[in-house]
Amino acid sequence: MKDSLSNPVLFLGITLSLISCGENAKESKNRDSDRRKPAIAAVNYPLAYFAGRLSDDFATILFDVPSDQDPAFWEPSDEQVSAIQEADLILLNGATYAKWALSRTLPYEATVITTRSFDDNLIKIEGSFKHTHKKDSEAHSHNGLAFTSWLDFTQASAQAAEIALALGERFPDRKEVVMSRLKFLQEDLSELDAAMTAASSKLKTAPVIVSHPVYQYWARAYNIVTPSLLWEPGLEISPDDMATLAEIQKENPGAKYFIWEDTPLPQNIARLKDAGLTSVVISPCGNRPESGDFLSMMRANISALEALPD
Ligand SMILES: [Zn+2]
Repeated sequence: MKDSLSNPVLFLGITLSLISCGENAKESKNRDSDRRKPAIAAVNYPLAYFAGRLSDDFATILFDVPSDQDPAFWEPSDEQVSAIQEADLILLNGATYAKWALSRTLPYEATVITTRSFDDNLIKIEGSFKHTHKKDSEAHSHNGLAFTSWLDFTQASAQAAEIALALGERFPDRKEVVMSRLKFLQEDLSELDAAMTAASSKLKTAPVIVSHPVYQYWARAYNIVTPSLLWEPGLEISPDDMATLAEIQKENPGAKYFIWEDTPLPQNIARLKDAGLTSVVISPCGNRPESGDFLSMMRANISALEALPD
């Protein structure tokens, strides 16, 4: 030890190596925090899917709505709201979607209203009664703006572009890759649009009765008249419901098809068949599907229409 201290060169060597050791520790700590990816919160599955496609490798998507709930009417816990408030970006659907977001404070600079570019073109809903989506669940109303904006794939494409824009602003070094991914995503959405236009052409000749007021943008985009009920696929149709249906059929002569949000009870299909209506499922896919993704769900919707008897 005395030797090494008496040798200034060796002593310096030891000190340097100690410093560089400390630097290494700091560097690896920095790399750890780099690995903690930015969080992008989304209020519904379509937005989570778009954000995932655009930011897959550099961000994590925060979308925690339980699978049995409709994200439009979901009530997050205080903890869940805090996690969303802390996200790097918060993707809102706009159009009065996610009612919880209207009564909570969200950081302005992180919030993206994805329907912003077609705000003027949103559809107002009036006179929709309070109802529940499931037995014993809280009643809600669809009053306000129609919110299933993404079922018009041109609008979905605009929402994806809004997300890409926000990602590029928030993460400038990723902007180029985000924009190139947006192009692929928009190509997929435009293919869906073309396929939906073709598949829905047989629905234009007469009104199509829908089970729930969530098809407004789809109907407008593909020129379909859609008188609406407030039915749930998992709740059995009652005789009262059948009386309401009969009135709607009288007001909308020629209706042949009936659209559900999810696979209905077999007895519901049977009752509608007796009333002269063929059931078909068009899933709005507001929540994450059990299997597949946004694209495969939308393709399944299109296939279901293609398979309908003329
Ligand atoms: Zn409802």
